[in-house]
Amino acid sequence: MIKEEESEEIATYTSKCPVCSRELTVKDYKYSVPFYGDIVISVAQCNNCGYRHRDVFTLSSGEPRKVIYKVEEPGDDNALLIKSSTCKIEIPEFGASIEPGTYSQGYISTVEGLISDLIEITDYLCNQENAPKEKCQEIKTMLEKARENKVSYTVIIYDHLGICDIVSSHKKPIYEKLN
Ligand SMILES: [Zn+2]
Repeated sequence: MIKEEESEEIATYTSKCPVCSRELTVKDYKYSVPFYGDIVISVAQCNNCGYRHRDVFTLSSGEPRKVIYKVEEPGDDNALLIKSSTCKIEIPEFGASIEPGTYSQGYISTVEGLISDLIEITDYLCNQENAPKEKCQEIKTMLEKARENKVSYTVIIYDHLGICDIVSSHKKPIYEKLN
């Protein structure tokens, strides 16, 4: 999605690996996102245990907010999704959500990419022994229809730092204040 040559390395530093406690290297890159502005992608890599973590930041943070984006026709899902590890993402129509937290990654993708991710996660969870097979199938069918643009759905981001966003050239999301 984002090419290396469009990025600018702005910092390299070391930190402690959360898995093996050895030293790991963190590199920060600056990217310019069309219709949005500059963001920083931080990539941590542990050479000892192989731990990798990616996160997304903005140079300035904003107000806590809710971002609501409706996908109603083909092309709406080409919108860019800017996600940091601190945001919660929800698609109420499918009962799907991605929770923030230590193991949550930050990334830039498209809404279509988010749906593909959710299909992968659902596949993984539904292959567990005690998974509710019927419910799994129901969610998967919905997500696949979404990927083929056969159903409308809403992507809602709960963002306490004002970093996460959905950026489209032809359609603006609705922003609400988050308490
Ligand atoms: Zn490590």
